[in-house]
Amino acid sequence: MPGASKGQIFKFVRVGRLKHASVAARCCKSENAITVIWDWRRAPASDEELNVRAELEVLLRDVVFNDKEDEWEWNDNRNKEFTVATTKRWLRGSVNSERFGFQWSKWVPSKCNVFMWRAYLDRLLTKVALRRRNIHVENIMCEWCDSNEETVDHILTGCNIIAAVWEGISRWCRIPEVYAFDVKDLVGLEEHCDGTVNKKLVLHGIFIIVYWRLWRAKNEKVFSNRDTKVSNIVADVKSLGFLWHKHRFKKGSVGWDRWCLFDVM
Ligand SMILES: [Zn+2]
Repeated sequence: MPGASKGQIFKFVRVGRLKHASVAARCCKSENAITVIWDWRRAPASDEELNVRAELEVLLRDVVFNDKEDEWEWNDNRNKEFTVATTKRWLRGSVNSERFGFQWSKWVPSKCNVFMWRAYLDRLLTKVALRRRNIHVENIMCEWCDSNEETVDHILTGCNIIAAVWEGISRWCRIPEVYAFDVKDLVGLEEHCDGTVNKKLVLHGIFIIVYWRLWRAKNEKVFSNRDTKVSNIVADVKSLGFLWHKHRFKKGSVGWDRWCLFDVM
């Protein structure tokens, strides 16, 4: 259904009686209106449910039904058929990357890129996201500062810990300190830094590693009760960055001494 989020559809299905009924089976089209035949397990009651119902009815207003079988459509309009090749191209950022505002870093491992991409899409399982999915979470406050709810924006841009990590990273890379208010502000951060195109490519990768390592530290705290020091996070970004840059950066790597001075051209 165009425009409806997965969450909305999920809620729609959850309170309906026939979970596998098609949308078309529930809609009666008269001359200029669509009437939805709802069949509730229980009538929607909360404000949220009533809002979702109203939003879905608005979405259905302009839907044109036909007799064709439903089919999946790949999101790249130029090539509607799904193929592994187009998926790879899309993941590497050459297709529609601006749609998500995220540019893949070629020298950073996929696990870090995927993490960052999910952060941009707000798909990380923060405590607030878990609560949104109706999973009971005892305390939704940030594990580090305990003064804000644990959201992607807070962990990656608002919490004291990221400010402290940035202090170390900016000193090492000799770049201005980073100020961001939400994850979308993290797009193209490297463009605000001086340097060659190569240096910006390196910075882009380092920024992704920073956030990926910070998220791991958050998980270490939540799941293993392990407090990772800021200095260790910065040191890990430096050493992992060196390793990956050395083996994967095609335009020339540097030795450890130069890397520590961020002398990367
Ligand atoms: Zn915090």
